Amino acid sequence: MPSFDFGAFKDPALAKGLVGLVGDLAQQVPGDEPIRLMEVCGTHTMSIARSGLRSLMPERIELLSGPGCPVCVTANRDIDALIALARMPQATIATFGDMVRVPGSTSSLQREAAAGARVQVVYSLIDALAYAQANEDEQVIFAGVGFETTTPTIAMGIKRAEALGLENFSVFVANKNMPHALEALVSDPQLKVNGLLLPGHVSTIIGPEPYRFLARDHGIPGVIAGFDAVDILQGIAMLLGQLAQGTAQIQTAYARAVMEHGNPVACAVIDEVFETCDADWRGLGVIAHSGYRLKPRFARFDAVARFDPQPEPTREHAGCSCGDILRAAKTPAQCALFGTACTPENPLGPCMVSSEGSCAAWYQYHGVS
Ligand code: SF4
Repeated sequence: MPSFDFGAFKDPALAKGLVGLVGDLAQQVPGDEPIRLMEVCGTHTMSIARSGLRSLMPERIELLSGPGCPVCVTANRDIDALIALARMPQATIATFGDMVRVPGSTSSLQREAAAGARVQVVYSLIDALAYAQANEDEQVIFAGVGFETTTPTIAMGIKRAEALGLENFSVFVANKNMPHALEALVSDPQLKVNGLLLPGHVSTIIGPEPYRFLARDHGIPGVIAGFDAVDILQGIAMLLGQLAQGTAQIQTAYARAVMEHGNPVACAVIDEVFETCDADWRGLGVIAHSGYRLKPRFARFDAVARFDPQPEPTREHAGCSCGDILRAAKTPAQCALFGTACTPENPLGPCMVSSEGSCAAWYQYHGVS
């Protein structure tokens, strides 16, 4: 085991034991090819970088970061549409903070705000509803970005807006679901992933069932893991245990939060308000059934239908490798702009903006070299 200070772990002895177990199990996996394990959640990406887990892995193990940061996977076209909405004189964009700095083709919400647009950073959709109630002369458009974890709260907010009879509130829906994106990822012959560390937050809503196809149809084991470094080590050990035995199952290493059937109430409100549709993911392209749109009963809260934004022609940023990073074809350090033209102070792509972005995590914890 490499020399490492385990003092920063909540339970240093347990962490040290799990690192030893990971090393033992890696030796039991047949063959001598790299074992490629992907964490698909941005919170896992941050935790792995912060705790230095990469440096504790045996040589055979490659930890790959996947597309689990909702801000990062929002397509340029959607950012541009939000910017077009922000330019309407009557509009106020209500958004979580990370979205403000994400560059679109030629601008960002932050730049639009500097030029006079109204952009309100909110901490929940409830804040956006309260703002709309207090400012009846403004059209408040909430930027709906997120996976199954945030989609139920947006659905609840839309139902609340309906109950309140709010006429000046709508949502730009760019929400996405995780299982269809995973299907696209594991179907990519270039990726060659041996196991998936599955997202803890999303799984509290949907439970393990929607991932079973990974094991059944693709022979890829998956483990739902929590976000502490020890949780992640346990998830990695469970993946290696399956690979050593030549089995593929979906297991849960986060039983304190993930129930077998997820959260049926949250799933029901998603189904009541939304239906699935094809969605455009940065780096992965259009994936069938991987997004959400409002059901007809709630269509009057759809900002695109209501205002028909006309975004400028989409332009990708020259040299930005966010797309490659989101499908694990590159690490952040392999982007030519990383740490030079692109830094957290001057981000050129969403992966450097978001608090869950791979480039931001790499910059903060691995450094530029
Ligand atoms: Fe994009 Fe910046 Fe990351 Fe390069 S370093 S991939 S430009 S966010």
